[in-house]
Amino acid sequence: MSRSQDPASAPPLLIVGGGPVGLSLACLLADAGLPSRVLEAQPLAALADPPEDGREIALTQRGIAILQRLGAWQDLAPEECHPLRRARVFNGAQADSLLFEAGSELGTLVPNHALRRVAHAGARRRAELVELRGEARVMALELGPEGAAVTLADGERLQTPLVVAADSRFSALRRLAGIPCEMLDFGRSVQLARIEHERPHEDQALECFHHGHTMAWLPLGGRSPHLSSLVLTLPADLAETLRGLDDARWLDWVQAHAQGRLGRLRLAGPRHQYPLVATYAQRFASGRFALAGDAAVGMHPVTAHGYNFGLYGAARLAEELGRRGNVEQALARYAEGHRRDTQLIYRGTNTVVKLFTDERAPARLLRRGVLDLAQRLPPLKRLITAQLTARPASN
Ligand SMILES: Cc1cc2nc3c(=O)[nH]c(=O)nc-3n(C[C@H](O)[C@H](O)[C@H](O)COP(=O)(O)OP(=O)(O)OC[C@H]3O[C@@H](n4cnc5c(N)ncnc54)[C@H](O)[C@@H]3O)c2cc1C
Repeated sequence: MSRSQDPASAPPLLIVGGGPVGLSLACLLADAGLPSRVLEAQPLAALADPPEDGREIALTQRGIAILQRLGAWQDLAPEECHPLRRARVFNGAQADSLLFEAGSELGTLVPNHALRRVAHAGARRRAELVELRGEARVMALELGPEGAAVTLADGERLQTPLVVAADSRFSALRRLAGIPCEMLDFGRSVQLARIEHERPHEDQALECFHHGHTMAWLPLGGRSPHLSSLVLTLPADLAETLRGLDDARWLDWVQAHAQGRLGRLRLAGPRHQYPLVATYAQRFASGRFALAGDAAVGMHPVTAHGYNFGLYGAARLAEELGRRGNVEQALARYAEGHRRDTQLIYRGTNTVVKLFTDERAPARLLRRGVLDLAQRLPPLKRLITAQLTARPASN
């Protein structure tokens, strides 16, 4: 990719990982006139019609704007998008709560599998500039001053001016490129399931910090106010115990700990579990190699930023590469900008998670104090709300 080369005839960039970020990046590059080839370990059929995975993604206004530009937003069915108007935070069994609300919406909740599906559809629409390869697991990486090459599991070797790894927070490519990564294992797991409930959710999320675990309820259901996604954050040993229960006994446990906030509960889908590990790469780019999505920044889900960050980074990377200047300089600007976008919130999120999962008495007192302070200090509340919506805080 030199300045003189016609970008559409340039050799394609290689994107390793056809997750929601890798596919969105391919679309954004195509819209900037740059061809790419997406290498995905799973079969293509799994990208076209991804199975439900329990994750409900809270999108910020900035994330939505990027999806709208891509046409992906327009591909979502109305019943797949649920408005999040308010969020209430409860500390233990206390009845009073801290309320976050914005003028309009805090964000919109969309199932992860729907986001994956529309990202794939967008890539298919741009077939002239996006080549999709399924069952293409990358096993080896070579980096040189003018380009790079990868080797697939079947031995095929592919050369390219640039490799972008969007291969998850446990990125093998990041390791092959020799980029160190900070990993914070919270020693906890998150369990997810869709639950029908007797009382309406009123489009509000509930975040309840209990002794030893947190229970969050995310409103879903399109026009039905009686469906939410339960997000249970549990110490690893309790998670394993609960995972071993059948659906009826698991639901009994949930009902017993839900403090009747939503009335009678009914399990409305499969249960899922993920380990909670946050990751932050020491560098986002190196020579002819860049990291995107969770491979760059893997967030704890509590502040709902992971995929949003992936979209911001993909948009920035496509914009920088679309300038058609020096590739290394474009990558350096991308790396610097993405660090600016993410670092503070990454560190802040981890601090909040530690505070709200520490069961020692001083931490319990401190979080009570933090919630009280946020309640009494409207500017602090506005700042947190602006972070949730990714809108500038106003007075
Ligand atoms: C419980 C939970 C709730 C969340 N809630 C939110 C939220 O509310 N808001 C938000 O913004 N984010 C949220 N997130 C984060 C969000 O889901 C992730 O940030 C997002 O899925 C990352 O997308 P990605 O494309 O970077 O990676 P992934 O989705 O992990 O995709 C990586 C892809 O790379 C492929 N791959 C891996 N290795 C190779 C290889 N060697 N060769 C070829 N292909 C390979 C994999 O098969 C996979 O398809 C949540 C996450 C969890 C776990």
